[in-house]
Amino acid sequence: MVLTVMIAAAAWGQVKRPVDEGMTDLGPVRLTVVNHASMMIEGGGKVIHVDPVGPKRYEGLPAADLILITHAHGDHTDPAAVARLRKEGTIILAPEAVARKLEGVTVIRNGEKKEFGVWSIEAVPAYNLKRGPSPGTFYHPKGEGNGYVLSFGGIRAYIAGDTEAIPEMKELKDIDVAFLPMNLPYTMTPEEVAEAARIIMPRIIYPYHYRGSDLAALQKALEGSGIEVRVRDWYY
Ligand code: ZN
Ligand code: ZN
Repeated sequence: MVLTVMIAAAAWGQVKRPVDEGMTDLGPVRLTVVNHASMMIEGGGKVIHVDPVGPKRYEGLPAADLILITHAHGDHTDPAAVARLRKEGTIILAPEAVARKLEGVTVIRNGEKKEFGVWSIEAVPAYNLKRGPSPGTFYHPKGEGNGYVLSFGGIRAYIAGDTEAIPEMKELKDIDVAFLPMNLPYTMTPEEVAEAARIIMPRIIYPYHYRGSDLAALQKALEGSGIEVRVRDWYY
């Protein structure tokens, strides 16, 4: 038993997380894929963790200057992971429903914007148009959850949160990179992700939150669109 645990720990230590780097007017920006909806973004001397879940997944990663949480579901809000990443001075931005589950959250609502060092963080709507546990209810009711637009050094990244292809996406301007959720029954089909991508028209999309979804169908649906579909392994 002890041996099994040791082997598992060693294997964990050797985990190679997918990492992508880009350049902005203010220096490099780096994305580390953690899992499902969880990612780390570094740039401008700041470490930003988005929807951290599962404390063990953060072995070897730096603590957070900023934690962004989209909504209160368990695959996005995990008090143990937040505790693991928190240090003196960590700022946590999240909607009201998350603030009820976590200490020390600064509430940010749809449409609000906050400056964080050289970063600017804007909370945008994320909700279901039609999908819910029963007719007339929604997995993600309008106004409860946030997506985020992060700007730094002339680059704008949109992290959609759990959402369908909502009309507010038309108002997102100059998005370079969009993280779009893909899975049923909670978010979008590949075709709906493609529709969202064509509304936003970023240079690059990262499908995420895609467990069990058909990535090839998404790539096919965006063929010839000029949008790069960047598939990374979010479930290593
Ligand atoms: Zn959710
Ligand atoms: Zn989710």
